[in-house]
Amino acid sequence: MGRILHLATTCLLVIGSFGCSSRQRIPVVEQTRTAMGTFFTIALYGRVEPAAAEEAIAAAFDTIQAVEGWASTKLPGSEISALNRAAGRDTVAISADLSTLLNLARQVSETTHGAFDVTVGALTTLWGFEDSPQAPPDSAAVDSARRLVGYSRLWVGDGRAYLGKPGMRLDLGAIAKGWAVDRAFEVLRGRGFADVLVDGGGDLRVSSSPVTAGRRRVWVRHPRRAGEYFARFPYDSGAVATSGDYERYFLHNGVRFHHILDPQTGWPARGCVSVTVLGPDATLCDAWATAIFVLGPEKGLEIAKQIPDIETLIVFEVNGQLFWRATERLSAMLEILDPEAQPGPPAGFLRE
Ligand code: ADP
Ligand code: MG
Repeated sequence: MGRILHLATTCLLVIGSFGCSSRQRIPVVEQTRTAMGTFFTIALYGRVEPAAAEEAIAAAFDTIQAVEGWASTKLPGSEISALNRAAGRDTVAISADLSTLLNLARQVSETTHGAFDVTVGALTTLWGFEDSPQAPPDSAAVDSARRLVGYSRLWVGDGRAYLGKPGMRLDLGAIAKGWAVDRAFEVLRGRGFADVLVDGGGDLRVSSSPVTAGRRRVWVRHPRRAGEYFARFPYDSGAVATSGDYERYFLHNGVRFHHILDPQTGWPARGCVSVTVLGPDATLCDAWATAIFVLGPEKGLEIAKQIPDIETLIVFEVNGQLFWRATERLSAMLEILDPEAQPGPPAGFLRE
């Protein structure tokens, strides 16, 4: 079955005329293409030389495609596919980029005691969300796939990597998009563009110039009402990523099964419905949005508070009622747009 394009974006960045007496149009050179199973948009704002802008954007898209080329599990020629094929048998030569990314992923795994784990591939393959499943796999199969997950059995060093057990599989779905956004962003900044947006299906990285400063708002999708927004906040520079249970999911006997899996159980993580993370770069935001999602609203918020530079908005559901919690600096600039959603219940009320 063909791969399904991930159409829904989880955050939207909008430049408004906020604070201006008359609406001024900001010049922009912009392009959208599909990559990594989603839409990527790249935009350069302000007065830029059009030919140089087009050329830079094309170079940034080439970079995204190159990341997809080594990171995808779908491409037999990727480094990840080679590692997966050699699991339990051989070490495989890997690029410096993949080595850096695997080491970053390991740090998040260690901090979260495995709630985030890029060796989750045997489980994600079994669930097969890419192929629009209608029912969960049987629990014996989930249990055996779960035993093939474990970041401590991924060895990385000296330009090579190795998966320690036959059947183990890497899946960079929770972090590679962020990495691609960052590398594309660097290409554009490296060419001297100051006012830049790279958006990979809602994982964003942005920088502003005086032309746009104070005018950007990030809108976070409502996790339960299509086409509506749950929250918004002003954002001039940095990265944002959102993970949600409303992106890739199916309903079976009234129960929602979605694509963010708890490696401890092998089943979809149940604590959150949506997690947004703000931080200095998109790779960290992407990884931490997934990690906090798996940890749940209580442990997730605790850990987020301890990590320098990141802020988070966590939306969760208790008996059909939506609640939200956020770190302090984000709370101060956050506007919640759903009047029925409640600020999080006191600690201890949550079931994790
Ligand atoms: P999206 O891809 O929709 O932006 P995420 O960044 O949260 O969402 O990534 C979800 C993807 O990450 C899944 O489709 C799967 O490939 C992978 N994944 C699922 N569970 C985990 C986990 N516990 N740790 C690491 N990666 C995971
Ligand atoms: Mg992620």
